[in-house]
Amino acid sequence: MSKSSTLAERLNKARVATKPEVSDRAKRGLIAYVGAQTDTKQAVTDLADGTAATGIGRLGLSGLSPSGLACAEGCAFCCILSGDDGGTISETEAVALYEALAPLAGQPDGREWNPKACPSLDPDSRMCRAYEARPMICRAYVSTDVSACEAVAQGKAVPGPGTLGPYHTYLAAIGLSRAALKGTKRVATYALARVAAAAVEGQSLDEALMAARHKPTELDAELKRSKRDLSRT
Ligand code: SF4
Ligand code: SF4
Repeated sequence: MSKSSTLAERLNKARVATKPEVSDRAKRGLIAYVGAQTDTKQAVTDLADGTAATGIGRLGLSGLSPSGLACAEGCAFCCILSGDDGGTISETEAVALYEALAPLAGQPDGREWNPKACPSLDPDSRMCRAYEARPMICRAYVSTDVSACEAVAQGKAVPGPGTLGPYHTYLAAIGLSRAALKGTKRVATYALARVAAAAVEGQSLDEALMAARHKPTELDAELKRSKRDLSRT
């Protein structure tokens, strides 16, 4: 039995607490990803740092063209974050976000526009300064109504904004990767806002990752929120 089929078997047996159809989609994506790799060590690394899960999520988004969205350049209420977390991101996304922002250390950041805004934001243009490196949560969050986003940014619970399906598949894929690699490799998640803040404040990558690393229970909590959100749709 080859090592990659062992990995595929581990993924096949892995379980994650989300809707069965979301778990199945994520599992199929991961097994296909691993099957396409000639280097099993690389496949394990890609599962561990979220490269595989992030790729599956982005592929899912690339196949969507939702209509009626109000999203536009410089429309940034969704970049006003609640708490100091800003959402769950994979390790590969955390590193990419850090690398995009570190050269901008010391420049004015989004918090000069709004104290709760993401540090990646340009406070004048309200454009993301790490657009190409923005994580899945940013790519998948959309809305049909800007005023609803403004209300959400003020802490009100109103309908309109939400995350597209591939975000939930991506979260499930991280959870499945963690379950499949249990006892062999750590699959960590990170807080978007803390990575961005550390990068623009001039901290090193290691310091940024250490400051932003989630406890393992945070992914479980995010999956629970995802399952609840999916049950409403
Ligand atoms: S999610 Fe809302 S605030 Fe963000 S770009 Fe879309 S409409 Fe604008
Ligand atoms: S990374 Fe960019 S798109 Fe995402 S919350 Fe921050 S400013 Fe907004």
